[in-house]
Amino acid sequence: MQQRSSDWTIPEEPESPFPIVTNFCDIVFGFGRGSAELGIPTANVPLEQLPLETQDLELGVYFGYALLKPVDHQDTTAFRNDGTTVIYNYGRHLNVTNGDFEIHPVVLSVGKNPFYHNKLKTVELHIMHPFHTDFYGAQVKFNLLGRIRPELNYDSKEALIDDINKDKLIAKEVLSRPNFLKYQKQVNC
Ligand code: ADP
Ligand code: MG
Repeated sequence: MQQRSSDWTIPEEPESPFPIVTNFCDIVFGFGRGSAELGIPTANVPLEQLPLETQDLELGVYFGYALLKPVDHQDTTAFRNDGTTVIYNYGRHLNVTNGDFEIHPVVLSVGKNPFYHNKLKTVELHIMHPFHTDFYGAQVKFNLLGRIRPELNYDSKEALIDDINKDKLIAKEVLSRPNFLKYQKQVNC
């Protein structure tokens, strides 16, 4: 696959500090821009629920595997600063027959999202699976197996979308290699 000039080199197998594996962590709301503006939803997770090594990662795009779990809870409503509401359904509408509870490849952004001038570090996962519903309040366990590229600043939304689509292709290809595929089961225990 063609490399971009900014791409990091991906080794033959995960190299330190990878693999990093998380516990199940809560899916919380972000700024609501992933799906609305980019068509690429990202499940945001609280930094403080992640292993310490995660905090030392350079800002950039990473890849790994993720597994979802619903939480037994009634719907609640949360409010973003801009006044928009977010319904937490705790994953109640996730569907076994749609494969929602299988382990899926993910691209992760560890970033401050310079395109949006965010101040706080965010960790967000785009799970490569066609969900039919959102699942705020559900939990996700995932691993990080390697890194794709540093966080970049973009002149246009289209350029950002283009790069994320390339990130997804790279992640899928690398995660299908036996040396990475074998870490899929790591998120299942
Ligand atoms: P927010 O900024 O609130 O995270 P997004 O636009 O990034 O908003 O949407 C994220 C939400 O979309 C996730 O929390 C999840 O409930 C839902 N979602 C649907 N499909 C996916 C997917 N493939 N990967 C990640 N989240 C998804
Ligand atoms: Mg998001």
